[in-house]
Amino acid sequence: MTDIEKRQDRSPVPSAFDYAPAPESRDVVTLEDRYGLFVGGEWVEPKSGEHEQTISPSSEEPLAEVAYAGPEDVALAVDAGREAFENGWSDISPAERAKYLYRIARILQERSREFAVLESLDGGKPIRESRDVDLPLSAAHFFYYAGWADKLEYAFPNRNPKPLGVAGQIIPWNFPLLMLSWKIAPALAAGNTVVLKPAESTPLTALLFCDVVRQAELPPGVVNIVTGDGRAGAELVKHPGIDKVAFTGSTEVGKEIQRALAGTGKKLTLELGGKAANIIFDDAPLDQAVEGIINGIYFNQGHVCCAGSRLLVQESIYEQVIAKLKRRMGTLRVGDPLDKNTDIGAINSREQLEKIKELVAAGEEEGAEIFQPECRLPEKGWWFPPTVFTNVVQSYRIAQEEIFGPVLSVLTFRTPDEAVEKANNTPYGLSAGVWTEKGSRILSMAQRLRAGVIWANTYNRFDPASPFGGYKESGFGREGGRHGLEPYLKFE
Ligand code: NAP
Ligand code: MG
Repeated sequence: MTDIEKRQDRSPVPSAFDYAPAPESRDVVTLEDRYGLFVGGEWVEPKSGEHEQTISPSSEEPLAEVAYAGPEDVALAVDAGREAFENGWSDISPAERAKYLYRIARILQERSREFAVLESLDGGKPIRESRDVDLPLSAAHFFYYAGWADKLEYAFPNRNPKPLGVAGQIIPWNFPLLMLSWKIAPALAAGNTVVLKPAESTPLTALLFCDVVRQAELPPGVVNIVTGDGRAGAELVKHPGIDKVAFTGSTEVGKEIQRALAGTGKKLTLELGGKAANIIFDDAPLDQAVEGIINGIYFNQGHVCCAGSRLLVQESIYEQVIAKLKRRMGTLRVGDPLDKNTDIGAINSREQLEKIKELVAAGEEEGAEIFQPECRLPEKGWWFPPTVFTNVVQSYRIAQEEIFGPVLSVLTFRTPDEAVEKANNTPYGLSAGVWTEKGSRILSMAQRLRAGVIWANTYNRFDPASPFGGYKESGFGREGGRHGLEPYLKFE
């Protein structure tokens, strides 16, 4: 046994390697003190007269003042969208439309460092993720849908696809720029104009995106951004000038929106919550599976709708998997989101941290066993260590409810049938993971799992060409791929 092995033998959970700090420079981002609303291609003061501060969740430092749109502001933005739709955008040649989308994609690539730093500052996610995931995928979405803009007739042969008009789009705080791209790219490719409301706690990359819109010389009013809180979202939903609502967020608000739209004839897509099962069979490559478990639940602090938050392990390998998992958790570095070595950043908001703490307390109270590796959390800001619960029973809240934080609940199974039954035993149905060496088992599991996305021997992989969306209380409609165009079109 080498010295290192001996040391590791004594301490089952090795501490993380020490790394020198490697902070990304903030200088690349220039923030305004105060932002207005982006309506008709111009910055306008909110008629509501309201501004609120947006802060960095890792330091609680105020970053900028952001406008809170009221009903009048939302109405002006919808009017600007309507005017742009009727005065040109819906009639310009599709190839011309594609050019704008290509331009936006290229500008996002060129300015990706600036966007990545700002995303990490405003939302708390590690720079490694905003740099390597959020930004490349955002640009990829615009590239992908730029390609479809002049091929709609081929995407939907003999159906004569036509744009709907003005789309009202509401996005959450976990992937601010990426969710914006998922919404705006297909809407514009299909010939619509948009009014988008970012989440209250992460408005800054959407506001920087307005600069990209101008740089790309997109006609005024094609993209309008109204910041604010849930009230602005609700105003947008009920505005009669909106033809379609696209919402990503909680199941609770999704239901409210569906109720508000009933009978109006407006089109609706909902991308809501999840409680995904990540299923590990005894023939899986275990070290890879452990990486997949880590990536499944600790990516973006677990603020991921498709997070693999319920781990289902086959009983015969349970001890082994849990030992490997705990060891690996001990090497995760929690801290400054702008440090390039950080694995887990800050929790997005104080409210979210409270919600995570409440559910973790419920798990302990109900009798599950908690494990958290030793880690020093920064004093300022909102933080939660990577956490795993074992001895979890299906009925526990931590096995049923979406925690939306770095908290994993482990359950076991003996047979594939039992795995399917447990995996499907949830009101949600957004995603699932299957780890096994057998291709036939992957296919049979994928047939039986009621989830919109199923990853095999990997987790949390995204591609603009691949449709994403839910079953049951995870919502309806798909984003990504050819499927993602359909909700923005009508067929004559
Ligand atoms: P949320 O409260 O539902 O908020 C989502 C967005 O809706 C925010 O912009 C929010 O504004 C706005 N909003 C709030 N109340 C509204 C109302 N009555 N009418 C219209 N809009 C309203 O969700 P969240 O807590 O921010 O995000 C976490 C949830 O989103 C999780 O449940 C997660 O699973 C889900 N999610 C799903 C996906 C997916 O693709 N399926 C992706 C990411 C997140 P404010 O922020 O200003 O309140
Ligand atoms: Mg913020």
